[in-house]
Amino acid sequence: MKIIAVNAGSSSLKFQLLEMPEEKEIASGIVERIGNKNAEFTFKFNGEKFVKKGEILDHSKAVELVIEGLLKHGVINKLEEIEGVGHRVVQGGELFKDSAVIDDEVVAKIASLNDLAPLHNPAHIIGINAFRKALPNVIQVAVFDTTFHQTMPEESYLYSVPFEWYEKYGVRKYGAHGTSHQYVSEIAAKRLGKEDTKIVVCHIGNGASITAVKNGKSVDTSMGLTPLEGIPMGTRSGNVDPTIFGLIAKKEGKSIDQILNDLNKHSGYLGVSGVSHDSRDIVDAAHQGNHRAQLAITIQAKRIADYIGSYFVLMGGLDAIVFTAGIGENAKEVREAIVDRLSAVGAKLDPVANNSRGEKEISAADSKVKIWVIPTNEEVMIARDVMRLRK
Ligand code: AMP
Repeated sequence: MKIIAVNAGSSSLKFQLLEMPEEKEIASGIVERIGNKNAEFTFKFNGEKFVKKGEILDHSKAVELVIEGLLKHGVINKLEEIEGVGHRVVQGGELFKDSAVIDDEVVAKIASLNDLAPLHNPAHIIGINAFRKALPNVIQVAVFDTTFHQTMPEESYLYSVPFEWYEKYGVRKYGAHGTSHQYVSEIAAKRLGKEDTKIVVCHIGNGASITAVKNGKSVDTSMGLTPLEGIPMGTRSGNVDPTIFGLIAKKEGKSIDQILNDLNKHSGYLGVSGVSHDSRDIVDAAHQGNHRAQLAITIQAKRIADYIGSYFVLMGGLDAIVFTAGIGENAKEVREAIVDRLSAVGAKLDPVANNSRGEKEISAADSKVKIWVIPTNEEVMIARDVMRLRK
């Protein structure tokens, strides 16, 4: 059975077609710069890549192109072969404790959360509507980045701010990357082969979050009301003292939105190093002796190690640390910088294993904590939920 997993952004639409229940990727692609004259559609199938450039005015047109591509390349022979669509939705607030079969009411609920994810939820709705129009008789499921973190206790998700902010506006920690944290922590739990497990997942990509997963449930995570909180990322600052707002507004005459933009887009690796947001450039520059590039890695590694230490205390121990996402899976230097700081929790790296690629155990034989690299697969989680909810 073929299920399509969709991730719609404000000007992009990513998809992956999977054969289920085998969980095998059949085709994937991305439409970029939607709404633009020089939009681009990249389609991958059978190890080949096809790129089409031109005007793609809106998401409906992008969905048409995806379906046309699937038919043209013989991935499917007719539309009816697609038996389910799963949509990644960044913010489910407290309204969604599980993935949901999409109907008008679910769309309205997702829209009601727009204030909490102004860049993401409106774009997801556009993508959902475009697919509902193109495939009206097919089940569509919303899979939220936040549901996995809905198990956090109050003391983890509440901020110590005026309580009415939570009651009136939903100001609390929601977390993100939930499907990824769930996917890799389930694999890690299986490997541990026991019921009571204490796992920290380090999802480190352009966006990055650290989650404490106890007995299969998220009990704390580093991202907050939005994906700006937590550890420093490619271009995001992670935690800062909010007093910075007043100081920079006064000194540079900037508005709240401008300062938020600086914290979201001009901070993290990019802000500290002045070199790039990309970990590959940062690692190269650090090797060449660029002090600020070295600092960008060290500051992030320190903050991640601090989170792991605090989650060790929270869970009363630690069985495994898992690295995943673009940097966690690929940047051995970043993993090394983090684990070097973790002797207090008994974590020790095997430098040879850390040097090799792919899914693997990278802890030393005498490490008290297992350390694994486990590639994430958010699309599989989305397709699994479509399968579960279509029954
Ligand atoms: P993601 O957001 O998960 O796609 O991760 C993007 C990040 O992963 C970027 O900072 C990339 O530099 C990093 N990345 C991807 N591939 C590699 C690689 N082979 N070596 C080091 N970093 C990588």
